[in-house]
Amino acid sequence: MGTIKYWVEQLSEHKIIPYEILYETLSNSNDLIFSAFPDQEMLVLKSFVRVIKETMERNVNHSLEGLPIVGHHFSFPMELFIGCFDIVPICFEGVSYLLAALLTLGSEPYYDIAENFGHPYHTCTSQKGVIGMTLNNLFEFDAIITPTAPCDNTMASYPFFKWWNNTPLIIGDMPTPHDPRSTHYFKEEMMQMVNELGNIIGQEPDYENLRKIIAHHNQALEYQAEINELKKAKPCPFESLLCPAIAGSVPLLHGKELAQFFKEVLEIGKKRLKSGKRPWGEEKIRSVWPYMSVLFDIAMCEWMDRELGMSVLFDMFSYSFFDSIDIESDLDTIFMGLSNQALNYPMTRQSATFADPFINDSVFLAKEYDANCAIFTSHLGCKQSVSLIQIIRESLREQCGIPMLTIDLDVGDKRFTSAQTIRKEIENFVTALNL
Ligand code: SF4
Repeated sequence: MGTIKYWVEQLSEHKIIPYEILYETLSNSNDLIFSAFPDQEMLVLKSFVRVIKETMERNVNHSLEGLPIVGHHFSFPMELFIGCFDIVPICFEGVSYLLAALLTLGSEPYYDIAENFGHPYHTCTSQKGVIGMTLNNLFEFDAIITPTAPCDNTMASYPFFKWWNNTPLIIGDMPTPHDPRSTHYFKEEMMQMVNELGNIIGQEPDYENLRKIIAHHNQALEYQAEINELKKAKPCPFESLLCPAIAGSVPLLHGKELAQFFKEVLEIGKKRLKSGKRPWGEEKIRSVWPYMSVLFDIAMCEWMDRELGMSVLFDMFSYSFFDSIDIESDLDTIFMGLSNQALNYPMTRQSATFADPFINDSVFLAKEYDANCAIFTSHLGCKQSVSLIQIIRESLREQCGIPMLTIDLDVGDKRFTSAQTIRKEIENFVTALNL
């Protein structure tokens, strides 16, 4: 009895249990990956697992030290909140999909808890996972932050947390048009959000630290731009897994950690280009994925590289369509830069406004990186993106001369369309391409 009480008391200190699960999983994966693969194999995966593991460890330690737990939507430059405050940031969408990628059962038990509670089955799994985890008492948030973007799913899901246990919810109103007027408007919203968060957690914003964190993020953007340049090489020097790895890194890592990861990836690419060696073999097909990678089966990337000779050059999260921020400028200008980044964040840029950026970005990536096909993951929860599939297909055919395969699935729940079915569809598509 005493042991159980002791255990429960210990557990009550733990407010971010899914991050602890991820830390344990990543620690085991790290040991396995480094011991099982030869030195020159799976370099991006090795770098990704190590840096995410360190991030999880830091967050878990900070949570045990008592720092406020702040849940947030993925579509913020998190430098803003991390820079201003001493907090433990929890990215809802990042944690749901990282569990989907790393655990055998993924986030599916938590989707089921949310659905049994009454959350509709056809909503986006990116938020549904954390709803289930919260219902299961695995998270305890001091505050939650979200913009009113990029979709109805976001706006319908976040108020749950306020309703369920009265967690303070800070909402930034993001306008639908993305123009200079909107940038100014959302800048004011962001300033207001910082003040609100400071009042809730009892901290004063530290704007000098914000500048330092933004400087690291600027560095990360420079490395990312260089990585993108290397992707123009034929064959592409990066494994396809880099796309979901970047999708997992951008919302979870920040500042120094993100810069470190991109620096390591850049070095990997440079060395491979110099040596002319790609451990997984020949590149026959170059693909772009206008939407998301299949997150519940990231091993599919390795299969495409090795079995099909297909490179995935970009998914929606692996290209940043925004500029860095001048940290020497005044605070108002820095916030304008952050607002501009938020409006152009991956997925927010393409899904929160009118259709043009989504179509144009898809065409741009295919043309610029000389892709010979596209694959669109038609994600069950994402109604507005699915409505654009035909227009994107026609645009790619007319402007780039390439075909696009569409696969109906849920990127975070393997029970809708299995990994085997998805692989079969890709295989058939590749056969039909006859390249
Ligand atoms: S995938 Fe679609 S529905 Fe899900 S968060 Fe992104 S925009 Fe919203």
